[in-house]
Amino acid sequence: MKIIYNFSAGPAMLPVSVMKRVKEEFNNWKKLGISILEISHRSEQFMEHIYDIEMDLRELLNIPENYKVLFCHGGARGQFSAVPMNLLNTNSNPDYIDNGYWSHAAFVEAKKYCSPNLIKVQKIVNNNVYILPMHDWKISTKSSYIHYCPNETIEGIAINEEPFFNDKLIVGDFSSTILSRVINIKKYGIIYASAQKNIGVSGITLIIIRNDLLHTKNIVIPSILDYKKIAKHSSLFNTPSTFSWYVSGLVFKWLKNKGGVKNIQNINTVKANLLYNTIDKSNLYINNIDKNNRSYMNVTFKLSNYKLNKIFLEESLENGLYALKGHRIVGGFRASIYNAMSIKGVKKLIEFMVYFENKYG
Ligand SMILES: *Cc1c(COP(=O)(O)O)cnc(C)c1O
Repeated sequence: MKIIYNFSAGPAMLPVSVMKRVKEEFNNWKKLGISILEISHRSEQFMEHIYDIEMDLRELLNIPENYKVLFCHGGARGQFSAVPMNLLNTNSNPDYIDNGYWSHAAFVEAKKYCSPNLIKVQKIVNNNVYILPMHDWKISTKSSYIHYCPNETIEGIAINEEPFFNDKLIVGDFSSTILSRVINIKKYGIIYASAQKNIGVSGITLIIIRNDLLHTKNIVIPSILDYKKIAKHSSLFNTPSTFSWYVSGLVFKWLKNKGGVKNIQNINTVKANLLYNTIDKSNLYINNIDKNNRSYMNVTFKLSNYKLNKIFLEESLENGLYALKGHRIVGGFRASIYNAMSIKGVKKLIEFMVYFENKYG
């Protein structure tokens, strides 16, 4: 079989060894003679499995004792609603940092429940995009929390600074950056991420939440979005997405074997630098995001000659490079290079980009 390198933004590629393991034990999980798809979420074996998953995740991310780990439904978009529903029991309105598509979408959803302050931090100067440094963000004195997205998956814009807003409560949508680099969990009240980028397959949503925030008094909140309830039931209030949860456990084991988050961060940096260097050296490929704000998970670029767009996409696919098309709202191209993408895969892409520029550029 021809090797395909999959640059999909999500659902994204999985480590090959994880796929292999899923296949091997698919009909006969833990030698029970049944599939992971067929077992009760309350069975001894499944409960044991999810306990291990949490322990592995706690180790990988160095999650402090006073934080709960929840696995729930609804994806990141579910959290766009859950966050304001759970946190708003005062009259103060939250600050929503707008640094791209997803952070803006979170703001739009929050507007259903409160009057969030929209704080735009994306600037365009001489055609270059950059994000205001955090100390220039116009945070309100009374806001109940600050929401932002450290990696905007669609535009390929990242905020790598650690938040420092005294004792303000910080909520982060980490969907496309969780586990790709070391983070200081203590800086956050809530971190959430949907699974289909760096955690596993779609269907489950990770929440890391400080214990003191499990306090909602809001009675109109749907139970499956109620952090207090989910925590009380150890994420088993209703039937979870068992398969997705199981796969995330295999991915965490894989990551531990790779040397953990610190090690994958180094690999991710190498991958992104290789790609951005190729783009910056070329006359055909353009990325106009400030170097400090370039995502190393989602590398976006345009062709200076847009007439070549179609043929770039066709030929890249013929060369085994899958899903390089940019998101429809920004156009151009996007290579999502999450943890599972190898340096070899990135080098294949670069090889093709250089060949293509020589041929048509
Ligand atoms: C993918 C993504 C989302 C949407 O996730 P769903 O699981 O589809 O709700 C939200 N935010 C970010 C940063 C994403 O990358």
